[in-house]
Amino acid sequence: AAASKMAAVWSMSRRFIIRSYNPFVNSVRRGFSSCIDPSDGLTDEQKEFQKVAFDFAANEMAPHMAEWDQKEIFPVKTMQKAAQLGFGGIYVSPDVGGSGLSRLDTSVIFEALSTGCVSTTAYISIHNMCAWMIDTFGSDEQRHKFCPDLCTMEKFASYCLTEPGSGSDAASLLTSAQQSGDHYVLNGSKAFISGGGEADVYVVMCRTGGQGPKGISCLLVEKGSPGLSFGKKEKKVGWNSQPTRAVIFEDCVVPVENLLGEEGQGFSIAMKGLNGGRINIASCSLGAAHACVHLARDHLLVRKQFGESLSNNQFLQFKLAEMATRLMASRLLVREAATALQQNRANAVSLCSMAKLFATDECFNICNQALQMHGGYGYLKDYAVQQFVRDIRVHQILEGTNEVMRMIISRNLLTES
Ligand SMILES: Cc1cc2nc3c(=O)[nH]c(=O)nc-3n(C[C@H](O)[C@H](O)[C@H](O)COP(=O)(O)OP(=O)(O)OC[C@H]3O[C@@H](n4cnc5c(N)ncnc54)[C@H](O)[C@@H]3O)c2cc1C
Repeated sequence: AAASKMAAVWSMSRRFIIRSYNPFVNSVRRGFSSCIDPSDGLTDEQKEFQKVAFDFAANEMAPHMAEWDQKEIFPVKTMQKAAQLGFGGIYVSPDVGGSGLSRLDTSVIFEALSTGCVSTTAYISIHNMCAWMIDTFGSDEQRHKFCPDLCTMEKFASYCLTEPGSGSDAASLLTSAQQSGDHYVLNGSKAFISGGGEADVYVVMCRTGGQGPKGISCLLVEKGSPGLSFGKKEKKVGWNSQPTRAVIFEDCVVPVENLLGEEGQGFSIAMKGLNGGRINIASCSLGAAHACVHLARDHLLVRKQFGESLSNNQFLQFKLAEMATRLMASRLLVREAATALQQNRANAVSLCSMAKLFATDECFNICNQALQMHGGYGYLKDYAVQQFVRDIRVHQILEGTNEVMRMIISRNLLTES
């Protein structure tokens, strides 16, 4: 019923304009355009959970994405429903409640979920990254204490690396943790933290030693810890279904048993988390671009100008073909990087950076071109295309800016023997 309501057609000046917020939901139901079919090349099992994710996106997320954006709602219940399908800890081990799937499986799922709401899916992806970090680098006690509730999304996690004075140069962070008996005392602040204020577990990179990356450790700070507070909720261009806040530590007391890994390992843990995070965020961009190619195609087919359908215009046909080609190139690179990371290949870090750089840039351009093809309607909040553009713009900035991705790729190339 929701889908048919959403597919309502609005008659204007005797021309029909698709006004439903998410007409691509119908494209999903109809089946994909074969040349950009995201299930192409997947195993039967992958196709199964991809379908589950697409259905969840269409039924549980897409109908609400505009409202979540406009009212800045953090959709806790919906995310917990997603977790019931195994999406709260997709690449976390099954013994602590995770789904135990691969990086490629994870990419396929985040791409599909993002067609229903990029912002919510992107938060779920950060939450998954944190759960994986605890699962991978935590003691058995830490894994069993934190991961089960994170996998069900009874509890939420945030990743805390960036500070007001250290963004791209993350290794220069200043938040300090000094051991005093059986606890650490944290002082400093983190900026731009996704889920900040709402999350229950904060994976915090802080300085326990000297300057540079080797002086950094990783602490798990639980909501309610004495000395933990939050800044105001930031007003953002997109990603409005998840809060972004500063996280502040003023003599914040954290038990020593909440140290993740060893002292001095924090930066390495943070970067290992981000390799997967970059594939995940690139996958969210793929979902947005996939949706926008469908939105653009549907709009070109129904909108008439100069006495004929826009779809008869060769310039627009060529643009649509380029969008589809760029989407496929992005997807192939993201999936290759996911496979390289899964197999722990030597080129995995570079490939993750290439995938993040290429896919987030290309997919933003695809969504922006889709908006252009909608003309003035693309600029109206009645149309989903503008939300995809706003939501994925930040993917070029966070989890390492795309300039930082270039630094990583070129550094690896130039230091190869
Ligand atoms: C909505 C949102 C959510 C976020 N969520 C999180 C989160 O959950 N956790 C977290 O830790 N962080 C988060 N961030 C922070 C994000 O990772 C940083 O904003 C990002 O790493 C860039 O840091 P900066 O903003 O300080 O920019 P800066 O580092 O000041 O960079 C400014 C510009 O200069 C460029 N630049 C910097 N140095 C160089 C160089 N050497 N060569 C070329 N160009 C350079 C950058 O690429 C950028 O374009 C989030 C940010 C946003 C906007």
